[in-house]
Amino acid sequence: MSKMWKRFCPALHLQKLADLTPDVLQARGLKGVMLDLDNTLVEWGQVQIAPETAAWVQEMKNAGLKLCIISNALEDRVKIVGEKLGIPWVARAVKPRKSSFKKALALLGTAPGETATVGDQIFTDVWGGNRMALFTIWTRPLSQRELFFTKMVRRLEKLVVKQLTKKGIISD
Ligand SMILES: [Mg+2]
Repeated sequence: MSKMWKRFCPALHLQKLADLTPDVLQARGLKGVMLDLDNTLVEWGQVQIAPETAAWVQEMKNAGLKLCIISNALEDRVKIVGEKLGIPWVARAVKPRKSSFKKALALLGTAPGETATVGDQIFTDVWGGNRMALFTIWTRPLSQRELFFTKMVRRLEKLVVKQLTKKGIISD
């Protein structure tokens, strides 16, 4: 696969966060998980945590996995969710830039090779995670609501996903 496509390619593709189980991570030697906020942990622009998501976080913690939030959103909302879930966070992350991923690694206390990152966007979550050599997990967005800008980016994302699917790298 060319480098051009490799950077956008998730290591794992899931329908939703709840489909990720501790053994999937631990079988790969993964000890820490960075979580995107909008449309991954909560619906876009929200702070309400679905019971299923709260239960998932607890299950991960019980399994001994370290968690943190890494979000491009502003501090106030990220903090609310982080405090509710009892996990640390990096806000205004400017993904796919590397600096915030480095901060998140410091919070988790894990090395890149033992860290996964989960998010719903190829050009921020997956590309950023791949730049840091993390185990990248791509999920479907929790809701259809999102920024107008994101909706525009999704069109490009669709083209990339179509290519990755055609190459047999990811499946629907
Ligand atoms: Mg997101």
